[in-house]
Formats: sequence, C-alpha cells, structure tokens
Amino acid sequence: MIDFSNTLIEWYKENARSLPWRFTKNPYKIWISEIILQQTQVKQGLQYYLSFIKTFPDISSLANAAEDKVLKAWQGLGYYSRARNLHFSAKMILSTYQGEFPKSYKDIIKLKGVGLYTAAAIASFAFDLPYPVVDGNVYRFLSRLKGIKTPIDTSEGKKQFYELAHQLLSLTDPAGHNQAMMEIGSLICKPKLPRCSECPFNTMCIAYQTNTIYDFPVKENKVKQRKRYFNYFLIQEKDGLYITKRTGNDIWKNLYELPLIESNQSVSAKCLKEELIPQKLNFESASIKLLHKTKHILSHQILETKFFLLIDSLENVKSHSDYIYIKQSDLQEYAFPQLLLNFFAAIGISKG
Ligand code: SF4
Repeated sequence: MIDFSNTLIEWYKENARSLPWRFTKNPYKIWISEIILQQTQVKQGLQYYLSFIKTFPDISSLANAAEDKVLKAWQGLGYYSRARNLHFSAKMILSTYQGEFPKSYKDIIKLKGVGLYTAAAIASFAFDLPYPVVDGNVYRFLSRLKGIKTPIDTSEGKKQFYELAHQLLSLTDPAGHNQAMMEIGSLICKPKLPRCSECPFNTMCIAYQTNTIYDFPVKENKVKQRKRYFNYFLIQEKDGLYITKRTGNDIWKNLYELPLIESNQSVSAKCLKEELIPQKLNFESASIKLLHKTKHILSHQILETKFFLLIDSLENVKSHSDYIYIKQSDLQEYAFPQLLLNFFAAIGISKG
C-alpha cells in the first residue's frame, strides 16, 4: 500500500520547478503569486510576479499606490478585478491589521478576492496551517486517481473533492503536500497526454487502470459566452488622441480605452455615422472609416470589435468631459486592456 502523502512529497522534492514564491514564507509575496496564478500560466505569471514585487515590494507600497499604477502593473494579465481587489485588500491590511498580514485562515479568507483555494494556499504555504488546496490541477488529478465522476463544477462536487483533499492532507507538512498536489497535476497529470508511466500513483490510479483518463474530470456546465459588439473610435488631434476611462460594473473597470459605442448587433460605418454617433456621442458631421476588425475572446464574453477613424469637429469632441486628450508618446502611462494594445500595435501606434 502506497503512503500517499510521503510518496507525493518525495516526488515533489525531486521534480518541483524552482519558482521564486516557493522559497519564501512571506505571506504578502505568496498572496501576490497566488492571485496572479489564479487565471494565468506559470510562465507568463512569473514575469508579472517579479515585476509586481519589484514595483510594490510590500503591503504598504501597494496600499499607498495610486490605482492607475496598480492597474498599469497588471496590464495584459486580464481579469483586472484581481488587481483592484489586491489594492483594496492591501489598504485594508494596513488600516485593520497595522500592515501585518493576517495569520489565521478565517481572517485571510475575508480579504477581497481571496476564496477557498487562495486562502488555503496562503494559510498553508506561509503559516503551515492544515488547509487543503483544490485548484484545477488538483481536481483533475484526484478525479482520475479515484475515478470520481461527480461534476467538479457543482456544489456537491466541490464539497466531495475538498473533503477528499482534506483526508489526504499531510498534517506534518501541509505546505509541501499542497504544493506537490498542484505540481503533480500540472506536470504529470496534465489535461492532454498525461505522463502516466512516470506517475508514482499509476498502480493505484483508477482512470489509468481502466483506460478512462480522458473521461475525467467530469463537468456539468459548459461556460456560456455572451456576444457583445464594440465600436471604438480613434479620434486624433495633432500628435495625440482621445481616450476615456471605463467606469461602472463591467469588464476592465478603471482601465482606459478609446471612445466607444456598444451596439446590440454588428453595425456598419453608415449606421454609426447616421444614427448611433449623432444619438450617443452628439457628433453631427462625423466622417468615419473602418480601420481594423477583430474578435476578442474572454472567459465569458466574445467581443466582436471594430475600430474606426473618426473625424469630427474638435468642439464636439471636447464637449465630452470624460474624454481625455493624451499625446501618443504618453500612451504607456495608461493601463489599457489587451484588445486596445493589440489595436495600437496593429496600426503602429506606440504601445504601453
Ligand atoms: S496515472 Fe496518469 S491519470 Fe492517473 S494520476 Fe497518474 S498521471 Fe494522472
């Protein structure tokens, strides 16, 4: 009979990737790494982690930074609410805990943007507390190992996998055990072409033994993607252009973009010029030309996007108090979503 946790931790010691957040017990750095890695591959996340920690080396530097600066550091990573939540929570730690990172699971999980998984990761990695981590890698590994068919995206599935991970958890080394669970899921029990012949658990793995690896993990619901239609306008003046800040509870809150009309279907330049621009922007004599068309895919949304060159009287443009004139050379000072950065690159405007 294999001693699960010992075997796992031994495998980890020999095979773990050397990543900077694995050599620290500093909860701030672990927190930053975990938030970055929530929706990001390790390879991309590593660069962001190193530069984020360099810019904001501790809680107070993050708490005292302007939100624009935090979003700028996050630019290109996506899921910007993660950056806003980090900023919010850093301020909260400074005011409520005098800048000292909370040490108990119940306080860690109260931080904005920290759910069950992240709280368990911080609590175990930084403070050696016995909470199991269950991320996508762990769901896949455990579902295959034990042949569990309960859908992982249901509350029943979440509960079942959490309880199993809790039963298996090493109480003497929860940090090493949790790191190892995620690492084996990421390096060996991969979604495609898992390396079963190298897996220390292949003799006890139900999916491997029954040749049903690709039946796991089971999911009930496919993510529904909503289609949206964005029409952006490049309005230039001398060596600059107009941008605007996104507000409201929507994607990319507090990031910058070009003036936008969102329509409920794909619309032509003619329709924009004759109907939507006069109605929504109050421009009378707009001349517009399609510059670029693209489809931008987010986890829950597909953005069918068109970019137009818009020429109108500058008086009209300036009547929009939410439009900000910036020089092209200052674009890198502002945080833009990747969709806009791609457009700037496509038409040769210097990007951030
Ligand atoms: S034997 Fe294969 S499917 Fe089973 S846990 Fe190991 S890597 Fe995953």
